[in-house]
Amino acid sequence: MREQSVVETGFYGEFGGSFIPEDLQKVLDHLALEFEKYKDDPEFQREFRFYLREYVGRENPLTEAKNLTKKLGGAKIYLKREDLNHTGAHKINNVIGQILLAKRMGATRVIAETGAGQHGVATATACAMFDIPCTVYMGKVDTERQALNVFRMELLGANVVPVEKGQGRLKDAVDAALEDLVENYQNTFYLLGSAVGPHPYPSIVKHFQAVISEESKRQILEKEGKLPTAVIACVGGGSNAIGAFAHYLNEPNVRLIGAEPYEAPAMTEGVAAVIHGFKCLTLLDDNGEPKPTYSIAAGLDYPGVGPEHSYLKTTGRAEYVTVTADEALEAFQILSKTEGIIPALESAHAIAHAIRLAPTLTDEDIIIVNLSGRGDKDVNQVFDLLNK
Ligand SMILES: *Cc1c(COP(=O)(O)O)cnc(C)c1O
Repeated sequence: MREQSVVETGFYGEFGGSFIPEDLQKVLDHLALEFEKYKDDPEFQREFRFYLREYVGRENPLTEAKNLTKKLGGAKIYLKREDLNHTGAHKINNVIGQILLAKRMGATRVIAETGAGQHGVATATACAMFDIPCTVYMGKVDTERQALNVFRMELLGANVVPVEKGQGRLKDAVDAALEDLVENYQNTFYLLGSAVGPHPYPSIVKHFQAVISEESKRQILEKEGKLPTAVIACVGGGSNAIGAFAHYLNEPNVRLIGAEPYEAPAMTEGVAAVIHGFKCLTLLDDNGEPKPTYSIAAGLDYPGVGPEHSYLKTTGRAEYVTVTADEALEAFQILSKTEGIIPALESAHAIAHAIRLAPTLTDEDIIIVNLSGRGDKDVNQVFDLLNK
């Protein structure tokens, strides 16, 4: 018998799959088939590339961080500049891809859920441009904490629905979005923001984020004539990291390193379990429930991690390290001062590990850091943290 691919089964080793009610399974089975149909279709690809170029502003540069390299000594550091994308982070790549898929599937409305608001803002942005109605579910508590992001989404024309059920947090927003999907699947597309969730979402998100490493590989070969020694990316759910790793997975000499917050160490301390409809390495509390986490970087604050990262960790193909809030804060300032680039607090976790690693390597080595986003959104918070 022919071996089944990940796209067909949704399993990466023991991780991934889908553990969801039957009525939802039907909807996602249909999505998996439609994704298979369009993902490599030349016309679909042409349109995806068109919007990445004309709207997102790709390709973005692979910038040599000359001053940081000099300061640290050792490996030469390059930054993949996802911070220069429209909306200031990598999330828009995936959002554009999924909206194009939604349109192909005949959906007339898009729904999403958001925790801190970053994915909600990216989704609302692209929905405005494609003129497609957008509903974003957000825990009531989160809407209060992130009032400015709620306002942004509303400016962009989205309907933000505060979810009061449960704890009024991300998980409750996910439940509300899933309920909406099951009820309205005939005209509705659920746009998921990271490389997590039941099959086929992790494959879909990887497919659209892989553009990051497709570009960085071509760029580093042009600039240096060789592949990097290591690629480093921060890991929340794992979408920017899987995109930054994708085209190096079959290059065994390239080290792939994910940096996660010390305060939410799903990869380094998690156990295999099913959460939110898929199996992954995750942090559980004493009752076996997903453990509430806290990271200074809102985008890294997730108790689990995508199934492919869980698999890459267990096979040893990728390494995962933790970075403390203090290290991330320091990296945030160092990159700002040396390169004139204020990184997102999430991305500062990846920078912090590069700061550790570079001096242990030689000037023949190259490190690519995926700069997943810009730090403007974090300046207020860092101000408070540094002046407390
Ligand atoms: C959301 C976000 C992340 C974390 O999400 P991943 O899916 O792990 O990439 C990292 N960096 C930035 C700038 C983000 O907005």
